[in-house]
Amino acid sequence: LLPAAADVGAQSSTLGVMGGGQLGRMFAHAAQRLGYFTAVMDPDVASPAGLVSHVHVQADYLDEQGLAQMLKRCAAITTEFENVPAGALYTLGAHLPTAPDAEAVAVCQDRAKEKAHIVRCGVPCAPHALIETPAQLAAVPDGLLPGILKTARLGYDGKGQIRVRDRAELEAAWATLKGVPCVLEQMLALDFEISVVLARDAHGRVVHLPVQRNLHRDGILAVTEVPAPGVSAALAEEAVAAAAKIADGLRYVGVLCVEFFVLQGGQLVANEMAPRPHNSGHHSIDSCDVSQFELQVRCMTGLPLVAPRLHSPAVMLNLLGDLWFDAEGRERTPDWAGVLALPGAHLHLYGKSSARKGRKMGHLTFTAATAAEARAAAQQAATLLG
Ligand code: ADP
Ligand code: MG
Repeated sequence: LLPAAADVGAQSSTLGVMGGGQLGRMFAHAAQRLGYFTAVMDPDVASPAGLVSHVHVQADYLDEQGLAQMLKRCAAITTEFENVPAGALYTLGAHLPTAPDAEAVAVCQDRAKEKAHIVRCGVPCAPHALIETPAQLAAVPDGLLPGILKTARLGYDGKGQIRVRDRAELEAAWATLKGVPCVLEQMLALDFEISVVLARDAHGRVVHLPVQRNLHRDGILAVTEVPAPGVSAALAEEAVAAAAKIADGLRYVGVLCVEFFVLQGGQLVANEMAPRPHNSGHHSIDSCDVSQFELQVRCMTGLPLVAPRLHSPAVMLNLLGDLWFDAEGRERTPDWAGVLALPGAHLHLYGKSSARKGRKMGHLTFTAATAAEARAAAQQAATLLG
């Protein structure tokens, strides 16, 4: 994966990203800061990353001409969206360095394969069963109920998931999901959730962001805090070691996030992986001396990985489209001036053309000298934004 590394600062070198969402946009910013050009492939004419990239290949991910253009222009390719078909990465990977590779992305794209990989690595995950046929549905052990039925593919932000209490609800839920392959997971009693964002290079060297504590609302990440409150050094070490095992097992090259549950009672359980920078690592742009997006650039170009140092405690709030509507459902503009008057505010807006409820429009990170101050400012912002 060395070709582009020699070209740092050489304006001729272009790094490609599959997917034009906010992760691609923040990747482009990090790549451009190091002197690279960026190319984005995304079918959306006004994608957040397409808007800030030198090249936007506006085509479906499997479009042959589009893939050929990416191959012609780029020195290396990464992805920002795990639902980019692995097939596109196979095609690109046959000609160019891609990080992560198609194989690893294919595992993360499929909850059944993902769980099998986690188990193979000796990391605990939620008791679960694969449901692809009515016979498998009927054979589900009682112990998995109440549970959560999740589509094996294409789910994110709580989409493609239905909570079920009993067999009747399970059957109805599978019908609602149109009988596609699913994973039923036992509903676990969570104390809280954490995540580890790591970067692994081709030599197997792993560096990671500080362990993050995450609060979800309606299946969508709402708040991330670092350092993670309530996480002992031993628990953090266990999570980082588990995430590294999962990455090593895939001979993964790139940025990987592993989400974990911490159960009431303290047990650590791996939830899922994302083969890319992750929403819970966005704070690193403002709180660490190397961000998760710069790590992605470094991984794909063979530049050195250094361990990110958290220089400020941080609290990140996701800004969902809901904030663009008042209680009566009328459109409004959030009070950005009020937010930016708060100490340590770092406002990131993704340039999305329209706000919808549940849509990730931006995020807001507060850094401060102490965790308590960061939390206090974040609370003030949450009140202001209503
Ligand atoms: P997504 O791909 O949508 O992020 P997740 O599997 O991470 O899907 O589920 C979203 C959220 O739902 C989790 O962060 C957690 O809060 C909750 N959740 C998921 N699975 C379970 C489970 N087995 N037990 C309890 N809560 C769960
Ligand atoms: Mg998740």
